[in-house]
Amino acid sequence: MQSTMMHRPLLLDEIMERAATEFADIEVVSQLADKSLHRYTYGEMVARAKRLAQALLDARVGHGDRVATLCWNHYVHLEAYFGIPAMGGVCHMVNIRLAADDIAWIINHAEDRILIVDDVLLPLYDQFKDQIDVEKVLVVSLTDQPVPDGLERFEDFLATAGDGFIYPDKDENAACGMCYTSGTTGRPKGVVYSHRSTVLHAITAALPDMLDLSYNDTVLPVVPMFHVNAWGLPYVATLIGAKQVFPGPHLDAESLLDLYTAENVNVSAGVPTIWMGILEALDTQPDRWALHPSLRMTVGGSAAPESMLRRFDGHGIELIQAWGMTETSPLGTAARLKPSVQKLSEDERYARRATVGSTAPLVQIRIMGDDGLPQPRDGHSMGELQIRGHWIAGDYYRLETSDDKFTADGWLRTGDIATVDADGYVTITDRTKDVIKSGGEWISSVALENTLMGHEDVAEAAVVARPDDKWGERPLAAVVVHDGAQLEADTLRAYLLERMPKWQVPDDYVFIDAIPRTSTGKFSKLDLRRLLLETD
Ligand code: AMP
Repeated sequence: MQSTMMHRPLLLDEIMERAATEFADIEVVSQLADKSLHRYTYGEMVARAKRLAQALLDARVGHGDRVATLCWNHYVHLEAYFGIPAMGGVCHMVNIRLAADDIAWIINHAEDRILIVDDVLLPLYDQFKDQIDVEKVLVVSLTDQPVPDGLERFEDFLATAGDGFIYPDKDENAACGMCYTSGTTGRPKGVVYSHRSTVLHAITAALPDMLDLSYNDTVLPVVPMFHVNAWGLPYVATLIGAKQVFPGPHLDAESLLDLYTAENVNVSAGVPTIWMGILEALDTQPDRWALHPSLRMTVGGSAAPESMLRRFDGHGIELIQAWGMTETSPLGTAARLKPSVQKLSEDERYARRATVGSTAPLVQIRIMGDDGLPQPRDGHSMGELQIRGHWIAGDYYRLETSDDKFTADGWLRTGDIATVDADGYVTITDRTKDVIKSGGEWISSVALENTLMGHEDVAEAAVVARPDDKWGERPLAAVVVHDGAQLEADTLRAYLLERMPKWQVPDDYVFIDAIPRTSTGKFSKLDLRRLLLETD
């Protein structure tokens, strides 16, 4: 028997229209290149997004056509997030931190028809413009600089359209956005999000046990809008009508703290590197900023050590760890305290908060062992984290080579090695390609790194496997010490021996100036291995 409910497609259009009617006066604030603030309201944002949609229709951009963005986080990027899908197009967010050749490859692979680019990123565009063939390049003015010949001002393009935009009918499974994975090995792979997956993800992300967002919040995504939809925050905030603040090109700790203070931000999100910088600034100038009294920040993208959570608590700021991937929209898990762990000791609660948390509603996970069997939820048994759900990729866009990322029974293979405990808390111990197998047992490089980063003189630490005649592999630690600090390998070894099983403690430590990073701010183990082991 069929239900008697209306059957309406889940579309981003509804999020836009609700923002324009319910939250017309709520502000969207963007920091421009000279640090001045551009302010307007959801009412104006939606009106301009619709004008963008109409201008794209007039330019004969069709359903399913890709329009690329090469932009920082700001109001025009938000208009693109909504305006492009509104007319049936696909907003392709291009990672500005990739090499120019990779950007050209991605734009060509996605067959983008139009490119929206920030004027401050034109030097990057110049590096690959001869390799791409888009019909139009629209320049967003974050400065007063004139637009180069042959390119069009975004504002002029918008001015070509009237106010009469009518949403075309769309299928909820139609594409609305796409991002390419950062591709540490091989070519980047395209993940295409649908209206339906994006709406369901936004609703779930807002839930109290996930990111806990409401229209009383002021949200500042530090995570770039070119990296997995800024973790969906621009969609979530628009859905629930939260005030949004965008940092533009200024992501250094002091600029962010100034902006948090000026706009009274109480919710933020970013990778551990950003929070590391914020901690340093707060430690050295504790009285400089009058932050919101209950500021909370989501951290993800790579592991946030427990010591980081504790240090932020010392500043009255709550850090909430979450896990996800480009392929998972990205929210897969978030570390909140379930009733079963609320009553545990403080140390045990910290230990749970330092996991990546428990699974979001409407997604399922399993830990697949080497033996091809799902592992028990005992907090010890390791295996590959596999996931499925409404906003989890089931395929890649136009992949030319075969791929083993999807299982025959319909799960995404995340490439992360993890455990799950009886309360459902997931701990990521490694990437499959980074695991260290010593004497037949796995050593978690993430656990070693987090413990090392708990040492007061250690700024950063990354651990890779080094081939070893006797044990197969042994861990090798690369350590960056804080400015002015002095550290010996023996001190670190003794520190670890107090906290980890002896056989897991590295024998060798290399002190370096910085850990190499990927385009999305993660430790690049590939580059580190090249640096330390001179491998290819
Ligand atoms: P990306 O697709 O660039 O967002 O990268 C996704 C990968 O980042 C995941 O597969 C994990 O390896 C890693 N990752 C994301 N969040 C976390 C986290 N909280 N802790 C550890 N690793 C994480």
